[in-house]
Amino acid sequence: MKRIALLGATGSIGRQALEVVAAHPELELVAAASGSQTIDGLAPLTQVGGDLTELLERARPDVVLNAVVGFAGLPATLWALERGVDLALANKESLVAAGELALAARRRGGGRLLPVDSEHSAAFQCLEGRAPESVHSLVLTASGGPFRGRTRAELEGVTPDEALAHPTWSMGPKITVDSATLANKGLELIEAHFLFGLPFQRIEVLVHPSSIVHALVRFRDGAALAHLGYPDMRVPISFALTYPERAATPVPQLDLAGLSLEFEAPDLETFPLLALARAAGERGGTYPCAFNAANEVAVAAFLEGRLPFTAIAELVERALAAADGAPARDLAELVEADAAIRRAADEVLQPA
Ligand code: NAD
Ligand code: MG
Repeated sequence: MKRIALLGATGSIGRQALEVVAAHPELELVAAASGSQTIDGLAPLTQVGGDLTELLERARPDVVLNAVVGFAGLPATLWALERGVDLALANKESLVAAGELALAARRRGGGRLLPVDSEHSAAFQCLEGRAPESVHSLVLTASGGPFRGRTRAELEGVTPDEALAHPTWSMGPKITVDSATLANKGLELIEAHFLFGLPFQRIEVLVHPSSIVHALVRFRDGAALAHLGYPDMRVPISFALTYPERAATPVPQLDLAGLSLEFEAPDLETFPLLALARAAGERGGTYPCAFNAANEVAVAAFLEGRLPFTAIAELVERALAAADGAPARDLAELVEADAAIRRAADEVLQPA
């Protein structure tokens, strides 16, 4: 039996995780949490809002599936890593914001960190058991989102509803907007850097509109291994929760006849957040935290109709220019860096 604590149980990942757990008698849901919706009876222990680590302390799970959205997921990520409790991580923002602290906690705790983000689950599977020196580079694929092929001028007036209409994945609102701006791939680039210990120059992003190839690893001998499958998050969720067994899922097998795979370079001028994320990642320190915090503020403002779509990247760029980026020595310093960027971004939004 694996005892699972599911954080973010009412979200897109959370609901699909409930389906995976229900299909496998060896997975037992011992605790569930949401941000605001009621979840009475969903698990023996439930919690709405508040400090998620209190729920984890009571539940003592074997695996934490962190499917909270945003920086709010960080305490739970660190709780699991510090204690050596297996962490199935969908909450990419926590690893982006606190990569160094999270890796240090994992070294102390010694548990598993299993990515749930589809590209990272794919990369993990291509890399598993390979000698690090044999790896040449990693390719993360991006669908390109609903605005692929548009020019910057054509994006001026796009509405939240248009940004929320993703062509291949059905996800929560924040990540869906991130996919439309390519900030999501920027977050994933930084996430991959920390997860796999690869320098940024060796992680490439390619647009692949059908979302069939999730990641590809190139090796020094000229061979490349790719991970393919229909875009369905139940596959990486199930992989992480049933690791290393790789249990069955209801997802159909790939129909290869008639499948054509297309790739193109991302348009960094129209979608500047991808390049901003790469620069923030390369600068290190709390720049990735600043990128994430400013992006969270900007996306929330866009969804509330307070900020135009193209201003999301402008706000992040201004916040990054104002950030000092000094490394955080502990969680308190990181939380302060995150809060400082949010204050700076709020001031840009609502000048006094
Ligand atoms: P969502 O908005 O659908 O769900 C978010 C969940 O988090 C909800 O249950 C909500 O109640 C909970 N939550 C929000 N704030 C909280 C707080 N302060 N405390 C406790 N709980 C809180 O989001 P989602 O699409 O399921 O994404 C969740 C995470 O997984 C994000 O980090 C996202 O980037 C990542 N992810 C999602 C997908 C996907 O297909 N949806 C794919 C890859 C990665
Ligand atoms: Mg992803």
